[in-house]
Amino acid sequence: MRSEWVRDRIYIDGEWASAHGAERQVEDPATESTAGRFRQASAEDAATAIEAASRAAEAWAATTPQQRSALLTALHTALVERSDLLVETLVAELGTPVSLARSSHLGQALEVLHSYAEMVKSYPFVENLRNSRVVSESAGVVGAITPWNYPLYQLVAKVVPALAAGCTVVAKPADLTPLSAFVFTDALHSVGFPPGVFNLVPGPGAEVGEVLSTHPDVSVISFTGSTEVGKRVGASAAASIKRVCLELGGKSASIVLHDANIAEAVTATVENVMVNSGQTCTAWTRLLVPREELDSALRVAQSAALAVTVGDPKDENTDMGPVASATQRESVLGYIRDAVADGATLVTGGVERPDGLTVGHFVRPTILTGMAPTARIVQEEVFGPVLVILPYDNEDEAIALANGTPYGLAGAVWGADTEHAFAVANRLRTGRVDINGAPWNAIAPFGGYGLSGNGRELGRWGLEEFLETKSIQMPTAEHNS
Ligand code: NAP
Repeated sequence: MRSEWVRDRIYIDGEWASAHGAERQVEDPATESTAGRFRQASAEDAATAIEAASRAAEAWAATTPQQRSALLTALHTALVERSDLLVETLVAELGTPVSLARSSHLGQALEVLHSYAEMVKSYPFVENLRNSRVVSESAGVVGAITPWNYPLYQLVAKVVPALAAGCTVVAKPADLTPLSAFVFTDALHSVGFPPGVFNLVPGPGAEVGEVLSTHPDVSVISFTGSTEVGKRVGASAAASIKRVCLELGGKSASIVLHDANIAEAVTATVENVMVNSGQTCTAWTRLLVPREELDSALRVAQSAALAVTVGDPKDENTDMGPVASATQRESVLGYIRDAVADGATLVTGGVERPDGLTVGHFVRPTILTGMAPTARIVQEEVFGPVLVILPYDNEDEAIALANGTPYGLAGAVWGADTEHAFAVANRLRTGRVDINGAPWNAIAPFGGYGLSGNGRELGRWGLEEFLETKSIQMPTAEHNS
């Protein structure tokens, strides 16, 4: 076991401090062996961290954007220096394939960090409006609660804009995958952020997360996770009127229009769903195809799913590793079992283990069709490598189906006429739409409609979640005369 994966301390007030919670093992989901262990923070530790963040808040808010940018740039360098360790850590704690850990988990985290180190230098923190100076200033202490599916990226997407805004932070990573957060904190410690500006308190959500959501000295809660826990966090935060930014679940649709290249659209959708073993909040888990194209879409989808290499996440050629835990595997298999029992047709995959993988929380890439739009597997987030395919008769019906869940996080539109695809995208009640597989943009806003949440991350929108706005009226010459 690597020494970096055995941690009995938490990070408070610029130091590695004693933790007073229980010891917890971190499982490698590909081998079911112990990857690492850590000692959890207790509720009291979380309160101590909030006190440290509160003490540091005024001085950190008074730093210049240039000073904050310089420290964030140094953090970027420190993370790049730890690239190999971070990639190995993500593979060990999550079972995500090494190629994806490098390109997406780490690569996108670094891109987001770089974008804020640059943006903060020119962001208009003071604007003049008639006789007013409108000041955007730190919102105070931020509680950042992150999920297990993209543990490093999610941490960066909250902590970095909060620090850039001049906020101090107490972060609680998910108990299932805390190891990359420790390595992130090592990097942050090495570059000399002032004590108390960043604090790390891994621990049970129901205790440590609850302290962050209820504590009167926390001004903003930035939460990414399930809709169910998000509702609870919002309710807990209400008593102290915190600002609450929720990034929650999704059930996104990929709409293949009549003039689309069917093979390209279907293949890309299948690949999108299998990324990170389907444990991606933005995954296009519902594929909507013109009814007359259903048979050919099913054939393409089946061969695309069979082409996904499932296996050892440490192998550079692996496309898909295990899901993150035995609980997650059981939950995903339960959805597949119930859907088939309710009459869905299994196009490929199913509840058996992938061939040759007798150990590890592996699930076959699975495709289902023939269910009603109201079926549970069409409406609920499975969070595993499972795609459902539904036919539609006309474009209005496709849009109604796409909008026909309580979620609204992401989506895709495929069509030869990109302006028409844009018009369709405009009718979707969702926070992000990709046309014809267009690439991710680190400075475009990201967040959900409906049960997918109410916050925005990335770009200036992500920074503004952590800013308060004040207007200061200046005397005018007329007023003085
Ligand atoms: P989760 O069970 O909701 O947990 C998320 C975080 O909340 C964890 O750190 C968890 O702690 C903590 N938590 C649990 N109970 C809490 C409470 N009572 N008060 C405060 N915090 C509490 O979600 P997950 O299973 O880790 O992640 C998967 C979910 O995240 C999916 O629904 C996915 O769609 C969503 N997600 C959304 C986005 C987005 O940007 N919209 C991105 C990624 C993931 P412990 O687990 O350590 O106890």
